[in-house]
Amino acid sequence: MRTTIGIIGGGPAGLLLARLLHRAGIDCVVLESRTRAYAEHRQRAGMLEQGTVDALRECGAADRLEVDGLVHNGIELRFDRERHHIDFPVLTGGRTVTIYAQTEIVKDLIALQLADGPQLLFEAEAVAIERPESDTPVVRFVHQGREQSLTCDWVVGCDGFHGIARDTFPAALSRTYEHDYPYSWLGVLADVPPSCEELIYARGEGGFALHSMRSPSVSRLYLQVPNETFPDDWPDERIWDELSARFAIDADWHLERGPITAKSVTPMRSYVHEPMRHGRLLLAGDAAHIVPPTGAKGLNLAVSDVRLAARALIELHRTGSAQLLDRYSELCLDRVWQATRFSYDMTRMLHADPDGDAFEHRLQLARLRRITASRPAAAELAANYTGLPLPL
Ligand SMILES: Cc1cc2nc3c(=O)[nH]c(=O)nc-3n(C[C@H](O)[C@H](O)[C@H](O)COP(=O)(O)OP(=O)(O)OC[C@H]3O[C@@H](n4cnc5c(N)ncnc54)[C@H](O)[C@@H]3O)c2cc1C
Repeated sequence: MRTTIGIIGGGPAGLLLARLLHRAGIDCVVLESRTRAYAEHRQRAGMLEQGTVDALRECGAADRLEVDGLVHNGIELRFDRERHHIDFPVLTGGRTVTIYAQTEIVKDLIALQLADGPQLLFEAEAVAIERPESDTPVVRFVHQGREQSLTCDWVVGCDGFHGIARDTFPAALSRTYEHDYPYSWLGVLADVPPSCEELIYARGEGGFALHSMRSPSVSRLYLQVPNETFPDDWPDERIWDELSARFAIDADWHLERGPITAKSVTPMRSYVHEPMRHGRLLLAGDAAHIVPPTGAKGLNLAVSDVRLAARALIELHRTGSAQLLDRYSELCLDRVWQATRFSYDMTRMLHADPDGDAFEHRLQLARLRRITASRPAAAELAANYTGLPLPL
C-alpha cells in the first residue's frame, strides 16, 4: 500500500488529523488496532476547550456537538464547606468550554470517515515503523492475520501512550520527563441527572471529588482513591456516601443518586517525550505526553497537536515549504509544558496528599482562597482552563 500520510491510531488525534488532511486534498490512511465498537465505547474525556470545538466545526464534524454539547460558563470550586463560582466569560473576555463526550467525538469522526474517506482500517495493528529518517518511511502492520506494508511520505504516530511510534525514536535522541502522583481516580458513570449546572471541583476533608456530566440524564463523577485500588473495593453505596461527604457545603444542596453503569480506576501521571519529530515521523497526542485529568487537558492537547501537524503538512503540500514542520516539535512542546504545569498545579492544589501534613493542607486552602478572592488569580485559572491560544 502507498499513501502520502500514514496515521497510526484511530483515537481522537488520528481521526481528526485524517479529517483535516482529507479536506485539504491530502491522501492518508488510518490504522487502528482495535475494533470499531471498542474505539467508540472507551470512556474518557468530556471537557472541550473552545479551540477543540472550533477544530471539529472546521472539519464538518460538529453537527451533533452543536445540538448535544453543553456549553459551560464556568466551574465551581468547593472547599471548607463553601462554594465559589469561577466565571469564565467574565474572566477571559467571553470564552467558554463545552461538555461533549470523547466517545461521541470518536463516533462522529468514524462515521464521517467511513462515509467519504480517507481509508480507515480497524483491527490493523502497526508493529514497526521502518526508515523514519528516509523520504519513504514504511509502516508494517498486521491486518486480518496478514502482515502488510504501508509506504508513506510522512508518518504521524497518534497511537496513544501504549503505542509503538514513540519507541521508534533513537534512544540517543529521546528525552523523557515523568511524574507519578500518590493517588488515583475512581470514575463512575451514573444514570442520574447532574446535581449541578457546572463542573464541581471539590477539596473535601477526605480528598478530591469531581462532579461532571455527559448529558442532561447522565452524570460522570470521580473520587480520589489510593493507588492500587480495585473498582470492586467500592460498592455503589460507599461511592455515593463518600461523594456526598466530599461535596458537602453549608447550604441547601444535595447529591442525586442513581444506578452506576460503569466504574474504573485511573492512575495519575505526567509524562512528556521530547522531541515530537524524528525525520519524517511526528508524534501527536498521548503518544507524546500525558497529564493527570484534573486540568481536563489530555484530549485538548491531542487536538492542538494535530491542528499544528495538519497546518504544517498542508503548508508543505501547497507551497513546498517545510518551515512549519521544522518547528512542529518546539511549537507543540511549548503548549504541552504549559498544560503539564497547569494540570500539576490543579492536581496538587485539590488532592489530599497521603504523605502530607496539616501545614500542606493549610497551604492548599490558602491557594484556593487566593483564587476565589483575587480576580487576577481567578483569571489565570480561567485562561488555562479554557485553553491557551495556538501559537500560530
Ligand atoms: C478517565 C479519563 C478522563 C479524562 N478526562 C479528560 C478530559 O476531561 N479532558 C481532556 O482533554 N482529556 C481527558 N482525558 C485524556 C484523553 O482521554 C486523552 O488525552 C485522549 O484520548 C488522547 O487522544 P489520542 O488520540 O492521542 O490517544 P488515544 O485516545 O489513546 O488513541 C490512540 C489510538 O491508537 C490505537 N493504537 C495504539 N497502538 C496502536 C498500534 N500499534 N497500531 C494501531 N493503532 C494503535 C489505540 O487503540 C487508540 O484507538 C481523560 C483520560 C482518562 C483516562
